[in-house]
Amino acid sequence: MEVVPLLAIEQLSKSFGSNEVLKSVDLSVSAGEVVTIIGPSGSGKTTLLRCVNFLEFYDGGSIRIDGSEVGFRDGSQRRRRTERDLARMRAETGMVFQSFNLFPHLTAEQNVTLGLQQVRGKSRKDARDTARHWLARVGLEHKAGSLPSELSGGQQQRVGIARAVAMEPKVLLLDEITSALDPELVGEVLDVVTQLAADGMTMLMVTHEIAFARDASHRIVFMADGRVSAEGSPDHIMSGADGNDRLEAFLSRFR
Ligand code: ADP
Repeated sequence: MEVVPLLAIEQLSKSFGSNEVLKSVDLSVSAGEVVTIIGPSGSGKTTLLRCVNFLEFYDGGSIRIDGSEVGFRDGSQRRRRTERDLARMRAETGMVFQSFNLFPHLTAEQNVTLGLQQVRGKSRKDARDTARHWLARVGLEHKAGSLPSELSGGQQQRVGIARAVAMEPKVLLLDEITSALDPELVGEVLDVVTQLAADGMTMLMVTHEIAFARDASHRIVFMADGRVSAEGSPDHIMSGADGNDRLEAFLSRFR
């Protein structure tokens, strides 16, 4: 039987003006799979995730989650949607950003409950129970009442993860979520991701943490110049057995 991927990206293309950033990208993620995208800066990794999360229009190809089209091909598709509609569609692909993007005037708990109430339509009590559950899962039950400014970067990012997973996305998108952190805070955030992976969360992530990518991923996709240049098991990609010069050059920077 053919396995239908949960996330299916086919022949995706995207330009910013004359700069062709994604050149017919094919990438799929099965349910429960953790797929990591690595590659040089400027190769289109972030743009790819942003297309999946409706944050950029794309020009051609398709993106499907569970068979339904996601993302926007142009502004007219976007204009037909209300903000509420859009928030609901976006919640299917929870995204965690490099820069945390927490609401600064809301507590950790309120940052998590906001979408649960406004987008998922949960009652205040339900939203609070769900938020506490997820804050506990990322080790922050004692910080529920703290403002982002009262939290370390690692704690803020763990709130960001709790906020995304509390919405029960089908796929979690993680965009360089440790890049803004001091080195000593990276581990606590990666531990949370490792736990989510062990629990079967489907994830597509971009990271520069090569060792983490090797340990946490089922599959690694190497992007270069807007294309999937190589992909395979972590061992295959990291061993350089692929015979791909660009991959070899990229990996040599981490050795
Ligand atoms: P990566 O995540 O691999 O570093 P990006 O997806 O951020 O790559 O960027 C790919 C290319 O797209 C780069 O050349 C970048 O300058 C360009 N780009 C990204 N976002 C925009 C934008 N909003 N407007 C114009 N160009 C952009």
